[in-house]
Amino acid sequence: MDESRQIAGWKDKVLFTPGPLTTSRTVKQAMLRDLGSRDFAFIHLVKEIRQRLLALGGVAQGEYEAILMQGSGTFGIEAVISSTIPPEGKLLVIINGAYGKRMHHIATTLKIKTATLEYPENRTPDLQEIETTLATDTTITDVAVVHCETTTGIINPVSEIGTMVKRYGRRYIVDAMSSFGAVPLHLARCGIDYLVSSANKCIEGVPGFSFVLAKRDSLLATEGYARSVSLDLLAQWKGLEANGQFRFTPPTHALLAFHQALLELEEEGGVEARAARYRANYETLIKGMRAMGFQEYLRPEDQGYIITSFRYPSHPKFSFEEFYRRLNQRGYVIYPGKVSDADCFRIGHIGRIFPSDVRDLLAAIREVLAEMEVKL
Ligand SMILES: *Cc1c(COP(=O)(O)O)cnc(C)c1O
Repeated sequence: MDESRQIAGWKDKVLFTPGPLTTSRTVKQAMLRDLGSRDFAFIHLVKEIRQRLLALGGVAQGEYEAILMQGSGTFGIEAVISSTIPPEGKLLVIINGAYGKRMHHIATTLKIKTATLEYPENRTPDLQEIETTLATDTTITDVAVVHCETTTGIINPVSEIGTMVKRYGRRYIVDAMSSFGAVPLHLARCGIDYLVSSANKCIEGVPGFSFVLAKRDSLLATEGYARSVSLDLLAQWKGLEANGQFRFTPPTHALLAFHQALLELEEEGGVEARAARYRANYETLIKGMRAMGFQEYLRPEDQGYIITSFRYPSHPKFSFEEFYRRLNQRGYVIYPGKVSDADCFRIGHIGRIFPSDVRDLLAAIREVLAEMEVKL
């Protein structure tokens, strides 16, 4: 339990969600400043954040570039899709959940040609089929996939897919929104041209912006491709490079919080240490949930340690709304399901939470089930 949740008389609920997440007190306190968007201190802050993001991705500046973009994670995805697919390009979207579908939705809204390979939400994509598609459809210029599909918590084989995408000479976009900073990933080795994540997921900052790690030579080749002014990725990068500033009002407070969150990630021991804490949260949770009789939606071998989907108990007295409300009253926020073909709810393992928080949640779940007279 982190004392950050008790500030002057109020106690925040613990967020077992996919974001926004529980953050540390010190991350919240970092926002108690007013910085001008052209202030030297602010420009320095942005520069340091961009450098630290490249280091987290295990890449050097010059090889990759870090671009910060106002808005939530989806704005970063839309910035990449709208600014980097050539006018006559075609995007192959690999889908096994809602976030893959969203990338496809963005591309079709922008009138970009697309192809899709869609799989059930509890299955990882078929690598052989991806290979055949790349070999036969030579009009595909770009491939997009989600790393951790937060719909279910499944982890997709981004490295294996990347190797194939590179073998066929296409560009590669990865939505690593809910995994970056907590699931080790080497951008260059995976052949990633554009990786997108956001401030309020595994880095444990607050919402307000997304970021893109872009392979420099791919980015520089996109001149004139942008289909939007505010989401123009290359123009945003040029602005940041020219004077260290955002083109339009930056989320100064969210950036202050994010910088502090990056320092705390380093103090914790980096990506490996954060992965270990989230994995401990996950293991504590599934052990307790299984002991109560809950069933996971995914097979254990496909399940990541970011978020887990559980099937609704089949007992007639179970109602998710009631279960959610009673947990909420006790100070625990869980998340509704997003799976299209099964009734599930989700519990996240990310954010400033520890196995002790998970044990408290498990105790609350036991109490709530008893009150509701639900037997599993
Ligand atoms: C959270 C998330 C997003 C972006 O969601 P926003 O609500 O726009 O921040 C995109 N993809 C995945 C996989 C996510 O988990």
